[in-house]
Amino acid sequence: MGSGPNGLVAAIELARAGRRVLLLEAAERFGGGLRSAELTLPGRVHDLGATVMAMALASPAMRGLGLEGRGPGQVEFVHPGVAAAHPLDDRPAVLVHRDAGRTREGLGADGAVWDATAGAAARAGFPLVDLLVKPLGPWRPDPRAFAAAARFGVAAALPATTFARRALRTVEGRAVFAGMAAHSVLDLRSPITTGYGLLLASLAHLVGWPLVKGGSQVLADALVARLRELGGEAVTGHRVRRLDELTGLGAETIVLDVTPRRFLEMAELPARYRRRLERYRYGPGVFKLDWALDGPVPWRDPAVAAAGTVHLGGTLEEIALSEAEVAAGRHSPRPYVLLTQPYAADPTRGGHTLWAYCHVPNGSPVDMTGAIEAQIERYAPGFRDRVLARHAMGPADLEAWNPNLVGGDIGGGLAGLRQFVNRPVWSPAPWRTPLPGVFLCSASTPPGGAVHGMGGWQAARLATRG
Ligand SMILES: Cc1cc2nc3c(=O)[nH]c(=O)nc-3n(C[C@H](O)[C@H](O)[C@H](O)COP(=O)(O)OP(=O)(O)OC[C@H]3O[C@@H](n4cnc5c(N)ncnc54)[C@H](O)[C@@H]3O)c2cc1C
Repeated sequence: MGSGPNGLVAAIELARAGRRVLLLEAAERFGGGLRSAELTLPGRVHDLGATVMAMALASPAMRGLGLEGRGPGQVEFVHPGVAAAHPLDDRPAVLVHRDAGRTREGLGADGAVWDATAGAAARAGFPLVDLLVKPLGPWRPDPRAFAAAARFGVAAALPATTFARRALRTVEGRAVFAGMAAHSVLDLRSPITTGYGLLLASLAHLVGWPLVKGGSQVLADALVARLRELGGEAVTGHRVRRLDELTGLGAETIVLDVTPRRFLEMAELPARYRRRLERYRYGPGVFKLDWALDGPVPWRDPAVAAAGTVHLGGTLEEIALSEAEVAAGRHSPRPYVLLTQPYAADPTRGGHTLWAYCHVPNGSPVDMTGAIEAQIERYAPGFRDRVLARHAMGPADLEAWNPNLVGGDIGGGLAGLRQFVNRPVWSPAPWRTPLPGVFLCSASTPPGGAVHGMGGWQAARLATRG
């Protein structure tokens, strides 16, 4: 049930294992966080949710499907000239290239540390990623990967502010690292935020930060096509309200791409497990904007034009303050903004479209349009004159589109240290539930949010292992 990347991967793995599979999706289109739609003007393709596909390319679950390519049923991942840019007020933007050496050169005095952390993790390659996205195993005995993971883990455990202040010296190095770590939607003074920053930075070098040509929906549709090739059925417009509906269909195995909040609503659960799920916490929400523009964003530093992703928010101190405010339940007047300009990599989206969001307290009703656009204007004066149409989604709109986005939380639950290990409960196999044959696979299970399908892969593995 549920056709986000985790639900789709679970369905495909079950079909590959010879099961008869029926996939039920509540929405009118498949994909969950992989949906695209004409949100602003006819012909303009916007990604409603995920757009940067670094995790999809790196994930062992997705790599194993061989979807990347130009053949029928395959998906083209398109790379911008620059993976990510971080503009600053009074100096040139910092650029993160796919090439670690070029990035190192651009970072000056902080280049060596960047290379020894993010660069080294990228050089450790897929064996390291495989360990990181399977925090509970199963692991292949690979001593070099374990050694790389141990080295990664030492820095990764630190708060991003601590790592940035201790290891990095320049305004540029600290700012660009803060922009990476803030993807975690956590207070940057909390543990393991360095890990999120380093993982994302290393993926920029290992696989790049590509987009899906034509929009993320193309990836969702390719996954559905793969499921159907394997004999699976997939249906949209079917919201499951009670688990009994699925047991009533005679299902032997039920894999739910839902978050604990929704699972609690749909099933009678043993009291102890229910209490544990009730303790599961959701993180801040997001306020998202999509624009149709009549030309590219007029960045003050022209180098930013080549970037697929742009982190707006200025220095380490400013970004850390913005994220601390949100973690404390307040709105930042100068929010950290995560922006993508798909046209830098993909000319097939009907023109210049732009995608951005900032973090807000969970469930916030506040319209952040002005604050987000002010951050863009700060680095791109004249931006507002380029806007032909805009589309806004606050937490309530996001949750109405996809019930997994509780209060606008796009990661399936707070991703701090506590819920890194209790996701959604502490268990060596948290995908299993106390109900026989019923599994959870959403981003509320390890390894958490992003398009990697690993929750689905793990749930299917347990289901087929018996
Ligand atoms: C605005 C935004 C930006 C993001 N950016 C990125 C990014 O750039 N890169 C990245 O890697 N990740 C990104 N993410 C995160 C990523 O999209 C999610 O982590 C990922 O989609 C989670 O996958 P999932 O399968 O667990 O659930 P989802 O993708 O949330 O899918 C769950 C599906 O289950 C369906 N469903 C739920 N309840 C029922 C029911 N009762 N009956 C039937 N169907 C049901 C829903 O309709 C939905 O289709 C972003 C997310 C958002 C919202």
